[in-house]
Amino acid sequence: MSRLYEQMERELQVLREQGRLRTLPVIGRRDGIWQEFDGRRLLNLSSNDYLGIGSRSSLRRAYLQQCGHHGDRCSMTSSSSRLLTGNHELYTRLEDRLAALYQREAALVFNSGYHANTGILPALATRRDLVLSDKLNHASILDGGRIAAAEFRRYRHGDYDHLESLLARAEGRYRQLFIVSESVFSMDGDCADLGRLVEFKERYGAILIVDEAHGAGTFGRHGLGLAEASGVIGSIDVLIGTFGKAFASTGAYAVMDGIVKEYLVNTMRTLIFTTALPPVVLGWSLQVLEAQLGMQEERLHLQRLADRLRAELRARGFGVIGESHIVPVIVGTDERAVSMALKLREQGVLALPVRPPTVPEQTARLRFSLRADLCWEDLEAVVHHFDGGVL
Ligand SMILES: *Cc1c(COP(=O)(O)O)cnc(C)c1O
Repeated sequence: MSRLYEQMERELQVLREQGRLRTLPVIGRRDGIWQEFDGRRLLNLSSNDYLGIGSRSSLRRAYLQQCGHHGDRCSMTSSSSRLLTGNHELYTRLEDRLAALYQREAALVFNSGYHANTGILPALATRRDLVLSDKLNHASILDGGRIAAAEFRRYRHGDYDHLESLLARAEGRYRQLFIVSESVFSMDGDCADLGRLVEFKERYGAILIVDEAHGAGTFGRHGLGLAEASGVIGSIDVLIGTFGKAFASTGAYAVMDGIVKEYLVNTMRTLIFTTALPPVVLGWSLQVLEAQLGMQEERLHLQRLADRLRAELRARGFGVIGESHIVPVIVGTDERAVSMALKLREQGVLALPVRPPTVPEQTARLRFSLRADLCWEDLEAVVHHFDGGVL
């Protein structure tokens, strides 16, 4: 056996012994809030389908029917990069619509949030720049920082005094400072103070990049994200959203000034050197983007559900964090998180344990991600499991 294979076997064995070995689950039918998982029908509290659009069959059926009449607009392949022949007119329509909604000069659509985050920083940040990134930012932002030539440093999660001290120390020593943050953090369910980040951007002449993967569709009157709710859309240099979560499609986008778009089109490798999204996906993204604009009632319901779930669990002595539709219950050790998730599954509830290294040691958690098509009675049943000593 080669050295590599021996080494891999040893590492996998360690993960197995620690109970940290990841495996791919078998996912069956999805039906509204229900998900068939490893052969059982479970209440799905682990999905990013925050508005319930992805599992609502009516919109999808209407789109597919419409597709039957427009062959080319519903092609399942673009067959080429956007810079060659993959730039279907639906890209233009989608980007024009995004720019208009966000009232920004330009928008750019990417294949995924992962492509966006591993492409934007490497395109913009040079060897003479410094990138300051929240410690809990998504892995794709970290990977973008690794690829970029710039120096990459992390500030303590949500600790803006720490961020400011790093900015103050760096002032004048780099060509350009960058600040990068998620808006709604996926692991802690808490929110960045975007107003404060904009203040820093202005005080230090930094470029501000915000990733709204979990804020798009869920925050703001028109679902444009936490930046809309905070009234700072126009002050963020590159505001990223993804289509794969609340928008129930696939791909990602960013809004920005025209010059930034022009520069990215010329330099962003994850935009240039990859096959464009298929028209069938772009058309669907356009429809969902439009449909979700009017879902303010769903957004309010979602936040009310989360507030109530947090309050009920706290009243039972559980450590619950967050201030969004993502509700993490901190349980401590890996073993406890895994055993609680298993017990919940036996009770028909799908909530996945999140363990180190995804989160810091001793903060293993059960992560509930809520959706607007749930009602309180669904969650009340979950709370009762915490009551009965089952967990
Ligand atoms: C999910 C996620 C991404 C990746 O987006 P994909 O479209 O799934 O590749 C990027 N950033 C954050 C914060 C995310 O949660």
